[in-house]
Amino acid sequence: MGLWNRRQWLRNAGAAVMGSQVAAGIHPAAAGPNPVTPPGQSKKPLDLGDFQPRSMLHVTATKVLQAKFPVIDVHTHLSFQVQHQNGVGLGEKMIYPMPPGEALAVMDRKNIRTMIDLTGGHGQGLEEVVEKWQKAYPGRFLVFTEPWWEQSNQPGYPQFQADAIERAHKAGARGLKVVKTLGLYLRENVTTGSLVKLDDPRFDPMWEACGALKMPVAIHTADPDAFFLPIDRFNERFEELNNHPDWSFYGRDFPPKMDLLEARNRVFARHPKTQFIALHVGNRGEDLGYVAQCLDRLPNMHVEMGARLNELGRQPRASRKFFEKYQDRIMLGTDAVPHGKETPQQIFGDELYEIYYRFLETEDEYFDYAPAPIPPQGRWRISGLGLPDQILRKVYNENAARLLNLAM
Ligand SMILES: [Zn+2]
Repeated sequence: MGLWNRRQWLRNAGAAVMGSQVAAGIHPAAAGPNPVTPPGQSKKPLDLGDFQPRSMLHVTATKVLQAKFPVIDVHTHLSFQVQHQNGVGLGEKMIYPMPPGEALAVMDRKNIRTMIDLTGGHGQGLEEVVEKWQKAYPGRFLVFTEPWWEQSNQPGYPQFQADAIERAHKAGARGLKVVKTLGLYLRENVTTGSLVKLDDPRFDPMWEACGALKMPVAIHTADPDAFFLPIDRFNERFEELNNHPDWSFYGRDFPPKMDLLEARNRVFARHPKTQFIALHVGNRGEDLGYVAQCLDRLPNMHVEMGARLNELGRQPRASRKFFEKYQDRIMLGTDAVPHGKETPQQIFGDELYEIYYRFLETEDEYFDYAPAPIPPQGRWRISGLGLPDQILRKVYNENAARLLNLAM
């Protein structure tokens, strides 16, 4: 190789190396003197997980330390069944992630009068939860019971479950909680086989018993729309699903989301004397028009807003109209879970409630819906509704007090 050729070769090789560094994400400047970078070659790849943009917006930030009116939080989890298999809670043994004293301290600071512990289990487990929380602190905690999924494939189940509701009522349970297990996890052999339909008639005596005993049913059906779509670059919850692929219900033998919601609505229609709380804004905060249609069609349906400020707060004008129109049927719920690391939008504590109060009471714009460096349920921020006192009172306590027959 002659001198000229060697220089030419080095220059070409240098350009090739620089090109490959750009492709690998190393900025040319880091590799030495940077000639004028042609347009389009200065892009720096950045992992989405490392992107934490800081808003340059100058907006009002109102700190709402206490709710304007006493709160009944209709959606919390203070106890859990110990045993779970393939998404199905089993057995009567319970665990408590937090002692009552820790909850009461936050409640007193945040003007929370009562918390409803939805996942109170069944049988002896339920009796224990009622003893530890509801009876020990009258008026501060109320406990709901849960179905005996482990019995659901037994021949006498429909009557057994109706009787169990009556026993739970005697033990002190104030309502029934049905988790998304029904529709997405419960199978013909409990944890194996084909999925049990949400409106399967074997549960009819259970829904009826709740109506007869005036125990509202809090039901979680399906999950966010994005969880039923492929985990790809078009999915607005990509980060979350990429970190938790097991949260996805796309493919396999899962039914489409709308089939689940419609089956749920058939249950509501078939049991008009039973009051249902369709959790998480009726599990369709992405489409308030649809939730409004359901509420119009089904007078025994109510909603709460647990873990859905991300949806409500990114459409504040539509949400405000929704709250105005359905002000008698919306309740405050947070889906609070003590120490839940995976879901920052649900970690029980002062910060969680301050966000809910700010959302409901102020007209602040563009703030975080969860205490987390990266918005955990979609990369966006929310704006407040600035609700008037009359609606705030209903949402904070009056609607729940009426449904649960509590004196306020
Ligand atoms: Zn929940």
